[in-house]
Amino acid sequence: MTRLRQHAANKITSTLVLIAILFSSCILAVKTSGPFPIKPGIDAALRPYVDRFQRYGHQYKGAGWHGHDVYVQFGDTSSFVVEDPKLGNRVIGVCKTATGNAPNEIVIDNATWNSADQYEREALIFHELGHCAIDRQHEDAVDNDGIPISLMYPSLIVSAIYAPRRDYYIKELFSR
Ligand SMILES: [Zn+2]
Repeated sequence: MTRLRQHAANKITSTLVLIAILFSSCILAVKTSGPFPIKPGIDAALRPYVDRFQRYGHQYKGAGWHGHDVYVQFGDTSSFVVEDPKLGNRVIGVCKTATGNAPNEIVIDNATWNSADQYEREALIFHELGHCAIDRQHEDAVDNDGIPISLMYPSLIVSAIYAPRRDYYIKELFSR
């Protein structure tokens, strides 16, 4: 039994290493260089995910709920440097909080989007909307198996982790 358990632990460790290698990070951007300001509106390819986020917001927060206005576009996120060494070295999504009444802005890395499946695309957009639409901060905590407890984990959660826990993660996202 011990060996089996040890094996399971090794598998989980590998999975997390894989996450760290394949995907990285997001930062809550405060700098004004890089791809900002972006063009107004929401890219047509990204719109279905933003609309879905809105529907879950109504489901969990009530019909009258609405988050901050957000523009969401593809762009070059490579100019952003991750200052936290715990995060990977590649930024794949950025949320920039606007001042005044201007909409917040999200930039999604195009190459990451093209190589991601539908679950990872949703996890990426929902993470950035977590920052930009509902003021969520990063959540570093993992459970006893090393699985992130929130979509606000600073690295993108891959499909193998996200898909079977999707309902939990979405509910958790709107729980604060
Ligand atoms: Zn983030």
